[in-house]
Amino acid sequence: MEVFEDIAIFFQSPLFKLIVQLIGLFMLIIWVAMVAWTYRDANSRGASPIYWAVVVLLFNVFGLVIYMILRPAEHAVDVRERELEIKAKEAMVHGSSLVCPECHRPVDDNFLICPYCMKKLKNPCPSCEEPLKPSWPVCPYCKATV
Ligand SMILES: [Zn+2]
Ligand SMILES: [Zn+2]
Repeated sequence: MEVFEDIAIFFQSPLFKLIVQLIGLFMLIIWVAMVAWTYRDANSRGASPIYWAVVVLLFNVFGLVIYMILRPAEHAVDVRERELEIKAKEAMVHGSSLVCPECHRPVDDNFLICPYCMKKLKNPCPSCEEPLKPSWPVCPYCKATV
């Protein structure tokens, strides 16, 4: 059969060897990229980056799958943001009104609205236009009832 002869010749040809080498090189690059990605991802999530990089290095795609299943759900950045949010809420509980209750960014005590998210923070007194908290029934600056 001529076709099989052609195939046999192809498998022995330098072109075939080159293709095999290129595929091998390509897979090696993907492997290294996976290890690097795992290292960075684990680092940003607060997992042990070296440990997971070694797992992917040893088990390749299977290591990556295991990492995807076991990795912490949140990025460390998210955790930090959540901590900031909790701190902002605590500040509010302790009577400080220096953060916006909507977006938790710092606001001045006399702001009428939050400059970041436009949340209404206070009402101007109808008489003296001092900023008043919505819960105040009377203006402490001019004694006008709101
Ligand atoms: Zn805001
Ligand atoms: Zn007033």
